[in-house]
Amino acid sequence: MLAQVIGVLMLSCVSHGSLLQLPGIVHVDRNWFASSNDPIGTVVTRVQRETTGSESVRYGLETSGPPAPFKIDSKTGVVTVNDTLLDKENQSYSLWVTADDGSIPQRLEVLATITDSSGQRPKLPRPPPFGLPNYPSIPDLSHIPHIPKFTRPTQRTTKATDGYIEEITVPETTLLTTLSPKVPDSNLQDKPGNEEIKNNTSVDETQIGSDVSLTVIPLVAIGGLVVIVAAVIIFVCKKNNSKGSKSKKDDMSKDSSGIVLQDATINMWDRPRAYSNRYESWDNGHLQLSEETTISKEEPPDEWEFPRHRLKIFNILGEGAFGQVWRAQAIDIDGKKGEQTVAVKTLKENASEKEKSDLLQELIVMKNLGTHPNVVRLIGCCTEKEPTLVIMEYVSLGKLQQFLRESRAGRHYGNTHAGSQFLTSRDLTHFAFQVARGMDFLSCKGIIHRDLAARNVLITEERTCKVADFGLARDVAGTHVYERKSDGRLPIRWMAPESLYDDIFSVKSDIWSFGVLLWEIVTLGSTPYPGLSAGDVMRKVRDGHRLEKPEHCRRELYNIMYYCWEAEPSSRPDFKEVVAMLERLLCTEMDYIELERFPDHSYYNVQNLEGEKV
Ligand code: AMP
Repeated sequence: MLAQVIGVLMLSCVSHGSLLQLPGIVHVDRNWFASSNDPIGTVVTRVQRETTGSESVRYGLETSGPPAPFKIDSKTGVVTVNDTLLDKENQSYSLWVTADDGSIPQRLEVLATITDSSGQRPKLPRPPPFGLPNYPSIPDLSHIPHIPKFTRPTQRTTKATDGYIEEITVPETTLLTTLSPKVPDSNLQDKPGNEEIKNNTSVDETQIGSDVSLTVIPLVAIGGLVVIVAAVIIFVCKKNNSKGSKSKKDDMSKDSSGIVLQDATINMWDRPRAYSNRYESWDNGHLQLSEETTISKEEPPDEWEFPRHRLKIFNILGEGAFGQVWRAQAIDIDGKKGEQTVAVKTLKENASEKEKSDLLQELIVMKNLGTHPNVVRLIGCCTEKEPTLVIMEYVSLGKLQQFLRESRAGRHYGNTHAGSQFLTSRDLTHFAFQVARGMDFLSCKGIIHRDLAARNVLITEERTCKVADFGLARDVAGTHVYERKSDGRLPIRWMAPESLYDDIFSVKSDIWSFGVLLWEIVTLGSTPYPGLSAGDVMRKVRDGHRLEKPEHCRRELYNIMYYCWEAEPSSRPDFKEVVAMLERLLCTEMDYIELERFPDHSYYNVQNLEGEKV
């Protein structure tokens, strides 16, 4: 606690420039919004960094995921739309804004969301209540179309990442507010677009001058004194502690270059910490077993269980009616030292007991699964209290469906540089092969997926496809119970006739879905049965109609999907057979998908169909 107070005091002194020069504040809205009908060139927001360095600020935009449809003007920091947003409704992009003025470069994470054409912003999902981040609040920008309303961050601290300084806002404390006169920023004053900014600074400028001399100077002096006293206390404490082994907390608060990162108790994710049964919080100084764990030491602990306070949650990756998936960083997980990005699945607060037990059921299935390169792997879980967290390997490029759709742009520009999504026929056939292998593994373990589709396959940067989302899966070998669990919407276009009409799910109905997924791959993520309503699809499938052969797909490949759509389930192949058939295609030099003939305008993507999963 003492260290925390001292840390805060030090920060405030530092932030007033009394100890060392900090990088200038970057004013950036953490949540960006653009409407899907915003044309290219629309201004989304503006980033501004106060300069402390010798050069004028250069702004940049980075993404670790798929390319984002935004660009930043390197000189003015104005962010604009640079690609069509029409097909990107409801998508979010996690981006990094960089601002470098020749002193210390800064890097801040933002979340950009494409709203529907009404421009209505989605309610940002609340983060799960497990001592994790404060999800940044949505500033009210509705009355200012392009330039976000300026509010000076209350406090900040810094953290070194990848050679950048990442700015982090910390929760407001009375102490810091007193020490933070709102000094108007001379760098911002004369730049265009700052009327808003000036109007929103609430402190009278002349008053600030006298405030500074009357309050800041004595406070800085006091602060300096406190720092000296604090340093002595810390020195004495450390001396005592270092007699034994060095605490893990200390280890983790330093990066490899020895720069002290933010205190675990003062970071942007700070909240009342969720105390695990197994560990005491970092707040107590050391990571150690609690009494409870000491008592239960005789019982072997669940090897999957992971202390939730070692998870730092970042942005949401996606959500359904009851569940959410978050990108997070786990410390010392999976037998590896240090931080690792993971995906964390949890339930929303409105989840019923049934959904809770379904998630635990899903966890049991994953625990008993073993690993396969084409199936998303469980890394750990937090089940000792609610909310249950399922920790999975993070698959960086997200859904295969989206990846395929985004690859269409790459085809036009012939973009072949590393990491671009320029795809060949062979790449696509290989995707299908990998999914079939993952499904073969699952079916051998007695798992029926029941929602196999390109939206439930994830893809890594190395272009490895991984079957995901066992939300509907059941261990048929164990229970033989196939209760339908879904958020009410059904994946009608991927469902076999016996599933649609008789509620029967089996490996063979997964095979049917695989055939549809193969069609999705060939058509670069199109929605199956374009132009037909759900009712039409159900009737047509029952009456023996099938998805037509796309013109640019060769017969050999289409035959495989067609085989998967045999009306009689037992006449369909199993996954082993599909793997073997696709492998045969991969062994030839032939292009089974003639992408140069892909008719961009014949297929379309549907984001929302009422009552249906697409
Ligand atoms: P789900 O609820 O399983 O459909 O997942 C929602 C979203 O989270 C999907 O759009 C995926 O892009 C993302 N997601 C799920 N699992 C992972 C993972 N293991 N790694 C990365 N993203 C994931």
